[in-house]
Amino acid sequence: MAIDTVVTTEFEIVIGLEVHSQLLTRSKMFCSCSTDYAYAAPNTHVCPICMGMPGVLPVINQQAVAYTIMTALALNCEIPQYSKFDRKNYPYPDLMKGYQISQYDIPLSKNGYLNIEHNGQTKRVGITRVHLEEDTARLLHFDGYSLVDINRSGTPLMEIVSEPDMRSPEEARLYMQKLREILVYLGVSSGRMEEGSLRCDANISVRPKGQKELGVKTEIKNMNSFRSVERALTYEAQRQIELLRSGHPIHQETRGWVETRGITVSQRSKEYAHDYRYFPEPDLPPLLISSDWVEELRRQLPELPDARRIRYMRDYGLSAQDANVLTEDKALGDYFEQVLAVSHRKGLKDRARAAANLVLNDVVRLLKSNSLSVSENPLSPSASANLLDLLEKERITGKQAKDVLEEAFASGKMPEMIVKEKGIEPPISDQSALEQIVEEVITNNSKAVHDYQSGKTNALQALIGQVMKQTRGQAKADSVRKILVEKLDTTTN
Ligand SMILES: [Zn+2]
Repeated sequence: MAIDTVVTTEFEIVIGLEVHSQLLTRSKMFCSCSTDYAYAAPNTHVCPICMGMPGVLPVINQQAVAYTIMTALALNCEIPQYSKFDRKNYPYPDLMKGYQISQYDIPLSKNGYLNIEHNGQTKRVGITRVHLEEDTARLLHFDGYSLVDINRSGTPLMEIVSEPDMRSPEEARLYMQKLREILVYLGVSSGRMEEGSLRCDANISVRPKGQKELGVKTEIKNMNSFRSVERALTYEAQRQIELLRSGHPIHQETRGWVETRGITVSQRSKEYAHDYRYFPEPDLPPLLISSDWVEELRRQLPELPDARRIRYMRDYGLSAQDANVLTEDKALGDYFEQVLAVSHRKGLKDRARAAANLVLNDVVRLLKSNSLSVSENPLSPSASANLLDLLEKERITGKQAKDVLEEAFASGKMPEMIVKEKGIEPPISDQSALEQIVEEVITNNSKAVHDYQSGKTNALQALIGQVMKQTRGQAKADSVRKILVEKLDTTTN
């Protein structure tokens, strides 16, 4: 795209991201209301605390603090022994109390990093801080009036702020994808950008190459997918570069991404931090975080995507490409490991490669064509493993396996049951029987044989087809090919 050439020769793009993630706790941040409101009627998951009534006392959700610290540890952050909550004051109709309980100068963590892979290189993106706050209510806008749904108000919201270390919209997307992977692996976030439980705002500026100080930045909001993160930032970088080129100033402001039009539009000029009149939240005690607790949380961290990827390559001999796809979606990697655990094939690496091929090619294809997610997979791990075992024992051919798998996917039956019910005969493994059929086919198809021997290699396919027909699909195509080629190359017609 044009923008890449512009950037490399003349300007540098500088991007930092602020990511908000709702936490998967059962109750809200400061009250006992349930966070399970996604399909609930408006204003049914509320109480005086999350409605912001005067005189109520908030109580800190310990699980939300634990999830935030676990995330911070996974992002290589330092955890201070003392932290606190602050009031961030601003009036807006979705903010029930007129202030948000957030964290200002002493967040739960700081100074971490996240590695992303870009063009075959590892790039480190600094994490400024990971802190904890509460979500606001939702405004529903209608023709001439708006309604407030308070169900979301007070849901635990974690904010992850990066350093302005990204240098292209693509890096921003990769960072966002990697961060989402980690949050899902940790089990602290659903990772659903489309539902708004994971949201991303970006700060972006451009500067002439070689210039030290940063250009004037804008903040971009409303990016609801990885793709829109990359598209919005590409558009905005281009817009800023054009302004600079034509000698116009860039205004510091908040801009919204309009997906349908593919542009960013000005929303409001930027408020400065001091407008929020932060002060320590008087209704909550300070957070004292013992190093024992931090170490206990560190021990609870699951295997993270990078470690899993490396293990798949090292222990299972998978390619980087296969290991990437299997680990990007935690559920898919889990399924692969479950298949592996119940498969009987000899040799760990052979078993792993067979399982990876089945999952990445056939299972993923069936899920896609049926619009199912991995968690809705009707094929049990033992069904997949059973199919692999049938293949290894040469009870069915590769071609038959595809049909059996589709049937197992549709019916939920075990592959060996399907093979029995359909009366599928074992493939012809008797070499001499197969050779005899091949010879018959060669004798009866002199034209195709002549074509092949005069250099028309396509004719081989027709001969293979004939043998498969004679054996009613019971022969293995690669054995047939091998025998045919041997015989054709040594006989002359
Ligand atoms: Zn409540």
